[in-house]
Amino acid sequence: MLRGSDLEVEPHYTVGRTLFSGEAIGERVKSLAERIASETPAKELLVVGILNGAVFFLSDLVRQMPSELDVKIDFMSISSYGASTKSSGVVRILKDLGSGVEDRHVLIVEDIVDTGLTLSYLLDVMRTRRPAGLRTCVLLDKKEKRRIAVDIDYCGFAVPDEFVVGYGLDCGGKWRHLPDIHVVNF
Ligand code: 5GP
Repeated sequence: MLRGSDLEVEPHYTVGRTLFSGEAIGERVKSLAERIASETPAKELLVVGILNGAVFFLSDLVRQMPSELDVKIDFMSISSYGASTKSSGVVRILKDLGSGVEDRHVLIVEDIVDTGLTLSYLLDVMRTRRPAGLRTCVLLDKKEKRRIAVDIDYCGFAVPDEFVVGYGLDCGGKWRHLPDIHVVNF
């Protein structure tokens, strides 16, 4: 897996067709937030965003959750896995959570699942910390590329095997800020 930020943007790369408009994303995010809140079996939920791609998704998601739910947010930052760890999906944690997760209900929020290796590794790490509950919410699911089965509890949209940008997802640091999700023309 290459994270978008590891890519070199060539001058001929352009933002291509729109897969999901900001409006469609907003509606989907609202319904996900309602489902997550209604299915959280506790008063408190720790929402963990994976930087940087999940930033907009997480911030929109939590703002659609009801005040009765005690929502806490935190972030993790991870490095891409290098050539030597490609098949295992072992990633380096560059920034860890600010608090423990033991006995808490945790929701991991990720921008996109491709091979599944990153999320699968993160879930393994989290499980060792003994949360009371551990669920996953991903904005985009690139199912065709899956190399390892990974439990996705909440998913925004399925996407084809194309490189996408916008709404938090980047290509060489570019286009993260776009409100819609687009395919990149290489
Ligand atoms: P996985 O370990 O599931 O193969 O990798 C997931 C990570 O790959 C995502 O968090 C993201 O950083 C990167 N990625 C995979 N597909 C895309 C894509 O289409 N666009 C962008 N911007 N990043 C992607």
